[in-house]
Order: sequence, then structure tokens, then C-alpha cells
Amino acid sequence: MYGLSAEDLQLQERARTFADELIPYETEAELNGGDLPKDVVAAHKARAIELGLYATNIPVELGGQGRTSLQQVLVQEQVGRVTNALAWVCATPPSWLPAVATEYQLDKFLRPTVRGDREECYAITEEGAGSDVDAIVATARRDGSDYILNGEKWHVTSYNSADYAFFQGKLVGGGHDGEHAMFLVDLPSPGVSVVRTPAYTHTISHHHPIVAFSDVRVPAGNLVGAEGDGMSFAYEWFRFERMMVAARCLGGAQRLVEEITSFSGKRSVQGKPISQLGAIQGMLADCLTELFAARSLVYETARNIDAGADVKVQHAQCSMAKLYASEMAGRVADRAVQIFGGRGYMRENVAERFFRELRVERIWEGTSEVQRSIIADQMIKRGPRSLA
Ligand SMILES: Cc1cc2nc3c(=O)[nH]c(=O)nc-3n(C[C@H](O)[C@H](O)[C@H](O)COP(=O)(O)OP(=O)(O)OC[C@H]3O[C@@H](n4cnc5c(N)ncnc54)[C@H](O)[C@@H]3O)c2cc1C
Repeated sequence: MYGLSAEDLQLQERARTFADELIPYETEAELNGGDLPKDVVAAHKARAIELGLYATNIPVELGGQGRTSLQQVLVQEQVGRVTNALAWVCATPPSWLPAVATEYQLDKFLRPTVRGDREECYAITEEGAGSDVDAIVATARRDGSDYILNGEKWHVTSYNSADYAFFQGKLVGGGHDGEHAMFLVDLPSPGVSVVRTPAYTHTISHHHPIVAFSDVRVPAGNLVGAEGDGMSFAYEWFRFERMMVAARCLGGAQRLVEEITSFSGKRSVQGKPISQLGAIQGMLADCLTELFAARSLVYETARNIDAGADVKVQHAQCSMAKLYASEMAGRVADRAVQIFGGRGYMRENVAERFFRELRVERIWEGTSEVQRSIIADQMIKRGPRSLA
């Protein structure tokens, strides 16, 4: 099915086996604030690396797996089958970085990340700038051979485990005054501090604190690309991440479809399995039909990227993939809770966890509303036939 090659199927199977190894740890993580013992997490990460499921998006010459977009999707789909972000150990380092990084940046930041020795986080969003990245008020000012960074960043995912951050700010002074620039900031660094760590809907070990950057001094060598380049990096990364969000949503929905098929066949009410009730069958059928549609869309989008589609077409199709897959997964999770009945409201139940965890997929990396506006813009500019 889906026209996958022998190599694709082999990689998919390896990723599925790894996800199956992680699933038994979910309830422990859920009931322990998302955390597992450090040695267990280290072993999971080592296994992801050993199985070739780490840095699938990075070229082989930089130490990565150099996988096609479709293969990256196949791996992240299996990552999505596991709750509590336990499979995030199959990390995807910044694939946009090699195109613009200096040798110093590749050596100090990217290569160690690809080896699994360093970990990054992204400090872009602010209290008043999420969907509209251009509204950021964080600043970067040149001072001799350094830049001075100031700003308060929100939702900095994985700050608690990262040892460097990408910081986006607007330049103050110079020829690119008011334009965006992105910087690499080692963590910890003087002037970088956690304002607070809010609690979120999901239960994962990766926190999303609000982080203050106060007169943080970084060498000019930590500027990524050129002054004024900041926004283009953000867009490139959004495109990639939107595909990976879509892939993980397929995995979450696949897991739920399997769980509800099994549960509804076993749970009997008034002497017969609930899977024989028309109302339940309606929900089962809708879940599988929508999953099939979403998977076909996501795989086709990945294939178009691999075939070198125009970047604007990629942008719109990645938005369609993210929009449809995340909304599909949300509907599947809602129905799954309903099919499990009272059990579906217990935190030890997979549907309950996915019901909460999948909600953010419609928000981060661009909300559903933002995806719709990207799709409609391109549709109006290029005509629907160029996109679908
Ligand atoms: C758990 C979590 C982790 C995150 N991790 C990171 C991270 O690591 N680094 C980082 O930089 N950011 C991160 N984010 C931020 C995330 O990308 C933003 O939350 C997201 O882009 C939405 O921005 P916002 O929250 O400011 O919402 P807003 O932009 O305030 O949107 C509010 C509402 O207005 C709607 N809206 C806004 N603009 C438009 C428009 N043009 N058309 C139609 N409707 C619109 C939205 O869809 C939404 O319904 C994270 C967020 C969460 C929740």
C-alpha cells in the first residue's frame, strides 16, 4: 500500500519496532510528570541512534541519515504513535542550518547535535508575537565583535534539556536596522534566565518556559547567515516542522484506530461487542476513512518535496498536510475517548493522553487558521490546480 519501496518499508518497520519498545513506559511517564529515570531516557536515545532513527533529516556527509522526505515522514509517523513525547529521542536537528552555517557553527553546534551530544531549542515566539513572527520586539545590537541580545521569549520547548538556543531578534542600528536576525546562544549564558515554567496540557519531560535574555553577549560568529536573514530561516523550518507534525498526527491516529478496533471488539454490552453497534461502527469507519485520506495527502506531499516541487507549492501543501492531519487526529482522539467510555477519561488510558496531547498540533508551528490563510493565499495567486 502507498507505493512504498523495500527500503521505505524496512525503515518503517524499524521505527515501528522502536515505538513498540517505548509504549510500555507511557503510563509511568504520565503519572510521573512526564519524566522517566535519566538512564532509561539515555538508553532510549542510544537505541534511536543505533537504529538509524536519529537525524534522519541531515545529510550523510554531516553525520546524519540523509533520508528522503517520505522516509523522514515514515519515521516521525511511528514517533507519533507514542504518547508523552517519549519518542522525541528520534530527534530531527535543524536541517536548514547546513545551507547557511559557517564551518565554526557546523563544528560547534550542528555536528555535535547530529551525533546526539548537543540539543537545541527555539526562542522565537513572544507574548505579543506568535502567529505574526514579524511582531517580535526582541532586539540584537552590534557591539564591536559581539552582539547584545535582549527580549523575553515564550514557550521555549526543551529549554530544560537544551544546551543552546536559536534566538530571533530585530536589529537595532546599522544597515539592517529593524530587520530580523537569528543567533546561536550557548546555554547557560550570562543574562539568560527562566522567568517561569508554566504547566501545559500535556505531560512531557520537555518544558516550555518563558525565558528572559538580558544583555546577553554573543560573538558575531554566532549570527546565523547574514543580518536580515532571520525570517527566511523561520519559514524554512516551519515548512519542515509542519510536515513532521502531520506525520506524527498520522501515527497518533493510527495507534488510536488500532486501540479502538481492539477495545470495541472485546467490550460487550447486553451480550454483544460494542463494535456491532451502528453508532460505534460509524465512529470507527469515520476514523479510518479520515486517517487514510490524511496519510495519502501527507505521503503525496512528501513525495512532491522529494521531486523538487516549487518552494511555494511545498509551502502550501505542507500547510494542507498539517491542517488536515492535525484536525483529523483531534477528531479521532475525541471519538476514541467516546468509544472507551469512562475508561477513556482515565489518564492511564491511551485515548485520554492523546486527547490532550494532540490538541497542540492545531496550534504550534502555525495554527489551523494560519495554515488556512497560507493555503488560500497560494490558491488565489496560483490557481487551485497547481496545488492539488
Ligand atoms: C506547547 C507549545 C510549545 C511551543 N514551542 C515553541 C518553541 O519551542 N519556540 C517558539 O518560538 N514558539 C513555540 N511555541 C509557540 C507557537 O508556535 C505559537 O503558540 C503559535 O504559533 C501561535 O501563536 P500564539 O500562541 O501567539 O497565538 P496568537 O497568534 O495570539 O493567535 C491567537 C488566535 O488568533 C488566530 N490568528 C492569529 N493570526 C491569525 C491570522 N492571520 N488569521 C486568522 N487567525 C489568526 C490564531 O489562529 C488563534 O486562534 C509553542 C507553543 C506551544 C503551545
